[in-house]
Amino acid sequence: MSDCCSAPGLMAFDLALKQLLDNVPAPENSQHVAIENALGKVLAGDVISPVFVPPHNNSAMDGYAFNSQLSVQAINTNSGLEIVGRSFAGEPFTGQTQAGQSIRIMTGAKMPRCCDTVVMQENTEVKDGQLHFTKAPVANSNVRKQGEDIQLNDKVLTKGHKLTAIDIGVLASLGIAKIEVFAPLTVAVLSTGDELRSPGEPLNDGDIYESNRFAIIALLEKLNVNILDLGIIRDDKTAITNAFIQADIEADVVISSGGVSVGEADYTKEVLAELGEINFWKIAMKPGKPFAFGKLANSIFFGLPGNPVSALVTFYQLATPGIEKMQGLTFKAKPKFLAKSTSKLKKSPGRMDFQRAILYFSESGEAQVTSTGSQGSGILSSLGAANSFIVLDSEQGSVEAGEMVFVEPYSALFQ
Ligand code: AMP
Ligand code: MG
Repeated sequence: MSDCCSAPGLMAFDLALKQLLDNVPAPENSQHVAIENALGKVLAGDVISPVFVPPHNNSAMDGYAFNSQLSVQAINTNSGLEIVGRSFAGEPFTGQTQAGQSIRIMTGAKMPRCCDTVVMQENTEVKDGQLHFTKAPVANSNVRKQGEDIQLNDKVLTKGHKLTAIDIGVLASLGIAKIEVFAPLTVAVLSTGDELRSPGEPLNDGDIYESNRFAIIALLEKLNVNILDLGIIRDDKTAITNAFIQADIEADVVISSGGVSVGEADYTKEVLAELGEINFWKIAMKPGKPFAFGKLANSIFFGLPGNPVSALVTFYQLATPGIEKMQGLTFKAKPKFLAKSTSKLKKSPGRMDFQRAILYFSESGEAQVTSTGSQGSGILSSLGAANSFIVLDSEQGSVEAGEMVFVEPYSALFQ
């Protein structure tokens, strides 16, 4: 989508995201951490396997190992194989086997040299110390090959990858105890507004409980950053100046909410203009039109709108990709797919809509999506009730029930 399709004076969402990503730095510092502490961290280099996984051929079954070529005659006549030793997990058989011989073997035990086949014990019978087959064995079966999961020197994980629980297991399987990841970001969070009170405090006439800082801090915890909570800052020039200066000194990223709308009679803009290079964008997106982005002396600044849904949607759609780039992650567009809208959706052309909706699958397996109803930017509970955004392009008008729409399911961050 280009700027041409947005309402005049508004910046297209895709352009805003691109400009933001072009203007945030990739990380420079890395550190080594124990794999136990690496969940959610971003790899600062490729991981090359120092070993084969598994390290040796081993048995996939409890049974008997033998060499299929040397035992053809015994197999064909079922005359029996002599059992000459055993190989248990962690206690391999170290001798040799010859024609007509077999080894008792357990799952995971190293295959004895010269053996290529395992027969499962359920398909055998032992009589007078001789192994007989009750079902003809298949040559080379029931053996897990050295390196069948990972080969020596394979590139297993790539720089810029965020480590999952499975990755931690894979790293352990490679014998890697410590891993190089990018150093964590510190993110400062503050809310501005004289009307804001924290939960637990009494409300004076005209006050509201503030929610943005709480939700944003919870989201930042999921993003694995260090958090500096600067609380609620009054609409007072000195207080705002001091808060932004402190945030800029201590953090890599500063996030504020409130005070970025047009014609706002507060000091946020004035202070930010004095302290850095901040652009006040009017983005062709709904919710979330006003959004400030730029640089303070030492940090990147995201100024979210005050309305709770706008604050969280811009945090999710714009600030998060910026933070993730600063963490070293490679940007990936969020997946979208078509689903049938069961609701009529109100929309006027000019802005890209992220409408809150519930995605589900009908009994026949069709993807269907239902709006959560009113899309007001103060209705925070509906953002929680939804599991997806219906993404309607800027030029799109209202949608009738039954039409196909693009749906973007919430990522793990929003769930
Ligand atoms: P503002 O952008 O400061 O004009 O705020 C827009 C709307 O969002 C107003 O109704 C504010 O009361 C509300 N608001 C601002 N900050 C917060 C916050 N941290 N939590 C909840 N609502 C807020
Ligand atoms: Mg305000």
